[in-house]
Amino acid sequence: MTRIGGTGISGKNPYGPTWTTGAKQAESLGQQVQDELFGKKKPREIDPDDATVVAQLARLRAWQKKLARLAGDDEDDYTLVLAEGTIAMIDARGKVYVGKRFLLAFASVLDVQVGVLAHEIGHRPKRWAEYKSAAPRSKEELERLCRTEETYADYFAGRALAELGLQVEPLCRFLTDIAELPHPEYFAAPLRVEVIKEGYADGRRKHELRKKMFPELARRVSAKADLGRG
Ligand SMILES: [Zn+2]
Repeated sequence: MTRIGGTGISGKNPYGPTWTTGAKQAESLGQQVQDELFGKKKPREIDPDDATVVAQLARLRAWQKKLARLAGDDEDDYTLVLAEGTIAMIDARGKVYVGKRFLLAFASVLDVQVGVLAHEIGHRPKRWAEYKSAAPRSKEELERLCRTEETYADYFAGRALAELGLQVEPLCRFLTDIAELPHPEYFAAPLRVEVIKEGYADGRRKHELRKKMFPELARRVSAKADLGRG
């Protein structure tokens, strides 16, 4: 959700540049998808320079662990670093770059911060290593696959927000606000919003069922359980 393609948008997008992808010769489908989705030019990593940023990062890292578990991965599969020139981006090794401007702009809108992070973690980039032996695909097939990937990530973001007891509307509003131009890899914002809301409804059902059947477990995975940790 965070890579804005095309020209003419950078003026409207206060968070970052446009990304370009080099024309590399991929050897397998896994490599192709990793290059296409996660092989973009990395945003520049920066050091947190004040207490607010440090606190915001620490809070988001606690959510990152929950999201990793929800995605079915280990907490250690992901790291979170501060960057500039991006909203958020994940690389093939599970390193999430979170833009400082984005982090601070949404310091009081946790649902958007977690929703954006959930989308990135929803890509689960490491699993593409499993496709190392699959043959490369045509450009069209690859684009279709990447759109599907984005859809999975959006669906996961919606589901995760619900399961964590957060709101989905702020993320949908945010997406609609930043989606100025269609990009071949992405569906238009209204469709993405629909997918996210589907995921959210799914997550709500799971959340409610768990609350009914396993109150103790629901308490542990809910938002409140981690508030004390900062
Ligand atoms: Zn994405």
